[in-house]
Amino acid sequence: MRDGQCHWCTGPLGDSPSSDYCSQDCQRDWQRAQLRIDSPEQIQRAGVRARKRARQQVRSAS
Ligand SMILES: [Zn+2]
Repeated sequence: MRDGQCHWCTGPLGDSPSSDYCSQDCQRDWQRAQLRIDSPEQIQRAGVRARKRARQQVRSAS
């Protein structure tokens, strides 16, 4: 169903390439929320990925 609203924040889609989300951030957050509902194992995996990414950001900032 396409109603011109972001499925996550319900904001306008604007010129987003996605027909469901106004930005990749919203799509990612929505997917993360689904994972949270699905299984603890997937949450853990997503957490590891987020931690790895945070470490890379620290490294590139210094
Ligand atoms: Zn949005």
